[in-house]
Amino acid sequence: MAQLDRPRETLLAGLIGRGIAASRTPRMHMAEGGAQGLSSVYRILDMDAPERAELSLSDMLKAAEASGFDGLNVTYPFKIEVMGLLDDLSENARTIGAVNTVVLKDGRRVGHNTDLWGFAQSFRTGLPEVPRDHALLIGAGGAGVAVAHALADCGVRRLSIHDSDPDRAERLAAQVAANRPETTTAAVADLAALFETDRPDGLVNATPMGMAKLPGMALPAALLDPALWVADIVYFPLETELLRAARAAGCRVLPGSGMAVLQAVRAFELFTGRPADPARMAATFDTFDHPAPIAAGT
Ligand code: NAD
Repeated sequence: MAQLDRPRETLLAGLIGRGIAASRTPRMHMAEGGAQGLSSVYRILDMDAPERAELSLSDMLKAAEASGFDGLNVTYPFKIEVMGLLDDLSENARTIGAVNTVVLKDGRRVGHNTDLWGFAQSFRTGLPEVPRDHALLIGAGGAGVAVAHALADCGVRRLSIHDSDPDRAERLAAQVAANRPETTTAAVADLAALFETDRPDGLVNATPMGMAKLPGMALPAALLDPALWVADIVYFPLETELLRAARAAGCRVLPGSGMAVLQAVRAFELFTGRPADPARMAATFDTFDHPAPIAAGT
């Protein structure tokens, strides 16, 4: 991370995506910048806003550069499209084939993917010591690609991948096998059969199942038992149906908030060249779930 040796006195950044009004990312960056004494501005640049109806992603990047932005976070649906507008990519972004952080510096645009490190770091700190001979990943979409590579980097030796779209599972299994040859991968169609014949040590949900707007879980609760560790990357709500069922079954669990905070930690470091404090950024993230009481008279 070459940027770490160039501290700055300001942070000017933003998040580009659609339907992002409720994002927790701006508050995390602003609070961390403020705590480090930086003048911090982090804008929500929602492409669904009427004033941006005529603007393209390319227009937004040009405007951010012209305005002196340090960088941008990029989310749905632009993580792949943005790659065509950049000068260079980090190794992680190239490996995953998606960018969630763009650093704008010295007239150059460099794309990074901090989701991979974010999940890997969350896993290492939240589930240390769990067995990782065989893991199951459910969901082979955009986030699933980062999680699959992170699991390989965390020492998972065999990775089974399931998706309701079997082609996606097959493609991701081939991608991880090519990028991380030390991890053996397989696409699996029948979860019950997998649990009967080749039980995984743990599993990660990287489908949207369990989100407030998509209740439910991507595997039957009957497959859970205390020997299994269970991670969810959905973080709204924090306690998904899967995590609730896994806790009830006696499993060790990892909520999605860790990945969400740690991807922002790494993005802050890339934008500012300063180390971020993960505990402080996590505390800011938590203020959304436990808002401070409104003082009388305000
Ligand atoms: P996506 O739409 O790109 O991919 C979701 C994948 O899940 C698709 O391939 C889909 O076919 C599959 N799927 C859906 N329902 C399924 C089911 N019941 N069984 C098996 N497969 C199923 O979405 P994404 O960008 O990968 O995001 C997935 C979720 O991850 C989001 O809902 C978001 O909440 C969460 N997420 C969390 C973080 C974080 O930092 N914690 C980061 C990114 C995404």
